[in-house]
Amino acid sequence: MRGVECPCGEYIEADGDDRLLEAAKAHSQDAHQDRYSETELKVLIDTAAYDVGEPA
Ligand SMILES: [Zn+2]
Repeated sequence: MRGVECPCGEYIEADGDDRLLEAAKAHSQDAHQDRYSETELKVLIDTAAYDVGEPA
């Protein structure tokens, strides 16, 4: 699993960076009126996402 924290402090987790991006986009739409662009979220994940849990 991969995890990342939104700038608002919300923790987002998903199975892989691609799914993490989808989850972050959904969170942006739900919680931030789509304030963060896909590019911004991708940069966030590229720079701030980390592995969580046990390796597969
Ligand atoms: Zn947020």
